[in-house]
Amino acid sequence: MSVVEAPAGRPTLENETEAEADVPHVRIAIVGTGFAGLGLAIRLKEQGIEDFVLIERADDVGGTWQANTYPGCQCDVPSHLYSFSFAPNPGWTRTYSRQPEIWQYLRDVAAEHDLRPHIRFGHELTEAAWDDERGRWSVETSRGDWTAQLLVDATGPLSHPSVPRIRGMGSFKGTMFHSAEWNHDHDLAGERVAVIGTGASAIQLVPQIAGRVGRMHVFQRTAPWILPHSDRPTTRVERLLYRKLPLVQKVVRSTVYWTRESYALGFIKHPKFMTGAEKIAALHLRRQVSDPGLRARLKPKFRLGCKRVLLSNTWYPALTRPNVELVTEAIAAIRGNTIHLADGTQREVDTIIFGTGFHVTDPPSAQIVRGRDGRTFAECMHSGIQAYLGATVEGLPNYFKLIGPNTGLGHNSMVYMIESHLNYVMDALRVMDEQGIAEFEVRPDAMAAYNAQIQSKLPGTVFMSGCASWYLDAEGRNVTLWPDFTFRFRHRTRRFDTRAYTLRRAADVRAPAPAPVA
Ligand SMILES: Cc1cc2nc3c(=O)[nH]c(=O)nc-3n(C[C@H](O)[C@H](O)[C@H](O)COP(=O)(O)OP(=O)(O)OC[C@H]3O[C@@H](n4cnc5c(N)ncnc54)[C@H](O)[C@@H]3O)c2cc1C
Repeated sequence: MSVVEAPAGRPTLENETEAEADVPHVRIAIVGTGFAGLGLAIRLKEQGIEDFVLIERADDVGGTWQANTYPGCQCDVPSHLYSFSFAPNPGWTRTYSRQPEIWQYLRDVAAEHDLRPHIRFGHELTEAAWDDERGRWSVETSRGDWTAQLLVDATGPLSHPSVPRIRGMGSFKGTMFHSAEWNHDHDLAGERVAVIGTGASAIQLVPQIAGRVGRMHVFQRTAPWILPHSDRPTTRVERLLYRKLPLVQKVVRSTVYWTRESYALGFIKHPKFMTGAEKIAALHLRRQVSDPGLRARLKPKFRLGCKRVLLSNTWYPALTRPNVELVTEAIAAIRGNTIHLADGTQREVDTIIFGTGFHVTDPPSAQIVRGRDGRTFAECMHSGIQAYLGATVEGLPNYFKLIGPNTGLGHNSMVYMIESHLNYVMDALRVMDEQGIAEFEVRPDAMAAYNAQIQSKLPGTVFMSGCASWYLDAEGRNVTLWPDFTFRFRHRTRRFDTRAYTLRRAADVRAPAPAPVA
């Protein structure tokens, strides 16, 4: 740790311009109201900290679970674990909840903790710039600006839909939308529909709409591994038990956590342990698809776990329906309503649905968050997007990214990782208060050493066993996943480790008086 006095002579309230004084100041500006943003807001309120604003581009809370309304959208980690540890829900009606129920859960949590007065809906962050003279962030949104001592970027790893550029797609005459921006006004009944992609969203939505559409063409680039799904409705007795005896639900949560954590042995430590799961998946395919030709095209050609493992009992049966075609030929171009394939054949369609994932390794917020010297988050990077503990970034003082680079998981709940980050942020606030720290910035050597360690662990994992996946950036670096047990991440983030930071004392910095956000 190195502690320096903040530069004297910084402008103070007295020499602020009138326009600057009109901009409300908060201690903490949080961008995003998914699990991460809401979770942090709750932790702040628990500590009696009310001087924060939650900036949200959408018109409601929920993040992932507000945006993804496609038919069949569901979590793939059991709900007792895929929820906040501090807000258990004894009433889950399924073991793996569907989107409406998870969304409602997050809305209830926001209401119970009275978060709405802090939230500014319909406000899209357009730029956040660190003002080095004043030692604070200038936060610009589509509908109003703030200044803030701390900026917390909780914009989510899977919140910006990615649509491939296909030659001629601008000439398409029908309807096109991404699975995360489902067009509920559009009736698919009887239509000729193309679904592009066979990832987590596509395998959920295709079985839901296959019976409704006239004809469906599912475009697959790589066949995913599919395991049988153990989802089921919960019983009334279970729900009553969890309500009356919360400890039982805690035990279930803990059992789910440790069972999932044991999968890390295969994902992270010994990829050959995946052989057992591969056999189960192969049997699942054999049982559900009798046509040997179709089965061959659905057989994955990489180690299970290299791409996200998917769960479904309905995906393969949907592909065997007479009105559904699996297309493995590459798309060459779109002209009018015709999709042209590389083998010269064509498919006429009315609607194209993109199940093509998200901008994960090139998050848009990295282009609009500007740190010291005016460089963006992306420009502060030397090789691929990275952060210290997935949270703090060299060149960006007083900035946290929640579940940033290399915090993603292939085997366990992201809410666990989010709660680990919340501990880290809360401890940073404690340290700042106790030691009179006005600014922190991760040291370049600490960030470089941390990322070198992460990258050195990745080659032995199943994620790097040879497949193209959204975990990898354009250079083939895995900037997405945490390559270890999640309890090790929890341990590393339990304290704000000041030795990794340059800290500036508050001595000469006078923060403007906070304006109420409610
Ligand atoms: C369909 C789907 C299913 C998933 N299932 C699981 C699962 O089963 N288990 C699991 O562990 N993980 C799952 N995930 C991953 C999931 O994203 C995380 O678990 C978690 O929901 C992330 O929460 P978050 O708050 O970090 O981000 P998000 O929930 O994505 O929230 C980010 C918020 O930031 C807002 N935002 C973004 N940019 C801006 C801007 N410029 N200005 C203002 N607001 C902005 C967005 O509108 C959004 O509300 C799933 C993801 C998807 C897409």
